[in-house]
Amino acid sequence: MCGIIGYTGSSHNAKDAVIEGLKRLEYRGYDSAGIAVFEKGKINLYKSKGKISNLENLLKDKNVSSNCGIGHTRWATHGEPSETNAHPHTVGKVTLVHNGIIENYNELKEKLLEEGVSFKSQTDTEVACAYIDFVYQNEKDKLKCLIKSTDEFRGSYAFGIIFEDEPDVIYATRKDSPLIIGITENNENFIASDVSAILNFTNKYILLEYGEYARVSKDKVEIFNHELRKTTKEINIADWSSSEYEKDGYEHFMLKEINEQPKIIANIFKKYSTDPSYIKNVDISSYSNIHIVACGSAMHAGLIGKYLFENYDNIPVTVEVASEYRYKNQLITPNTLVIVVSQSGETADTLAALRIAKEKGAKTLAIVNAIGSTIAREADICIYTYAGPEIAVATTKGYTSQVAVLSLLALEIGLKKKTISKEMYEKIIEESNSIESLLTDTINKHDEYLNIAKKIHEKEDLFFIGRGIDSAVCMEGSLKLKEISYMHSESYAAGELKHGTISLIENDTPVIAVATDINLYEKTISNIKETKARGAFSILITTDNISKESTVDFADIALTVAKTNTFIQQIIVVTALQLIAYETSKLRGCDIDKPKNLAKSVTVE
Ligand code: GLU
Repeated sequence: MCGIIGYTGSSHNAKDAVIEGLKRLEYRGYDSAGIAVFEKGKINLYKSKGKISNLENLLKDKNVSSNCGIGHTRWATHGEPSETNAHPHTVGKVTLVHNGIIENYNELKEKLLEEGVSFKSQTDTEVACAYIDFVYQNEKDKLKCLIKSTDEFRGSYAFGIIFEDEPDVIYATRKDSPLIIGITENNENFIASDVSAILNFTNKYILLEYGEYARVSKDKVEIFNHELRKTTKEINIADWSSSEYEKDGYEHFMLKEINEQPKIIANIFKKYSTDPSYIKNVDISSYSNIHIVACGSAMHAGLIGKYLFENYDNIPVTVEVASEYRYKNQLITPNTLVIVVSQSGETADTLAALRIAKEKGAKTLAIVNAIGSTIAREADICIYTYAGPEIAVATTKGYTSQVAVLSLLALEIGLKKKTISKEMYEKIIEESNSIESLLTDTINKHDEYLNIAKKIHEKEDLFFIGRGIDSAVCMEGSLKLKEISYMHSESYAAGELKHGTISLIENDTPVIAVATDINLYEKTISNIKETKARGAFSILITTDNISKESTVDFADIALTVAKTNTFIQQIIVVTALQLIAYETSKLRGCDIDKPKNLAKSVTVE
């Protein structure tokens, strides 16, 4: 969600470095883009609605040459996506880009209007810009001006700021929205929303914290705290290479990332077996209840976790969306473990939920992909999923790696609590050794996914049904389809459908049923038959041990995947569902990697 990049230096044209960075940040989701560059000591703005290619077209004949610039991909929160609302914004001597929301912008705007300031855009960002300029009129020390200004801002922000009277210097600060400073030894430095934007130039970066203010020039990076004391910061080295941000011959990042799953999941299991500090030594078996808090697919991963913790470890679990959890009575006791799950580690609602849980005395455990992200740093315990950079907006490997970590936690707790016997544990671990080949085989069923996609891609409504842990995976399958193909889809616990929603089944409405649990199989089949009796086109996804019996009388299409233990079964099933969504989206001609209106890392409430 929103990308910020800034460049100051003499090794590259700032315009090119900033555009390059913006392209690397495209995956975060955006609806307009813009840059501001110093040209001969003067700040010029170039902005356009839509893709970065529009901005490039605008710049094509302009011969822009610059040593310093800031750029932004905007994901509109206040004001429609338009050229005027696109960042950067300039008021007086201040030009800035912003990620986040200034919640009290109306209040500040009224004050500024009284002072005679006028506004061009509908954004909260322009108000922040005007406010900083207003303070700057009386407080000429730029750092002091920024501290005074941000002290008045409520909400979340990452700012990249340039001042007309100080060419080639970028100021930056943040609260609840990510920002890093990229450093080099070759007379150039950067600011960026994340490391991916600068990996072509450097892998060295500093994490800017809340309450810190950066002054960045081509040969110097200075970080000050709120009291204006200079602070020494650790220099981090990103070990994700720039090639991990390429499609690598795949048609889409999503397909590439689906194909990375066999290795990633196998590596998680390998790491668990060989490195005791990864999961084994994390002793959380003494907690009497668990709250899993997350958003979107990460919340769906939590639903799988709930099933496993409850069924195999006898621990009651609630799974809640973070945007609700943060505003309710959380009912945390000294024995509550709060698990937050977030691919980016920056999800605003999840971060807020984590902070509340900590404040209320819960032990917190984060399952995160992005190394060094805010959630990873703030949780008491962090377990990384090591899935590597995920570029497609709709998560695949991010989700399955979260499920793998939750499965291993459930397994480990079960072993420690003796609710899982040693024999059962060893059998599961043994079976899990084949996860890589099982997932590869699943991915290779390409023709079957395409066949299903051909049958459903012209429909506008679709249902997923399943029972038990299959119902949890249906939630994710349904979300994937909605996200990337824009088809309306709903996921229902199979037994719940007849309590209302079955009235929406019409002739040929597709119903995708997942049935992998032998104990619930017959019940789910009955539910499929109920939909068939009302005209549904039924697609059954089941495991190869079950499907031996004839399915012709109730399944219009039956897709079988390999049968394995409950701890990894859904990773296999969801891979099939991801590929059905992928093929369907392709047939519908959608923008698979960057679905409309969606952002990758949701850093606003
Ligand atoms: N709230 C700001 C706007 O709507 C910034 C949004 C963003 O983070 O891209 O312009």
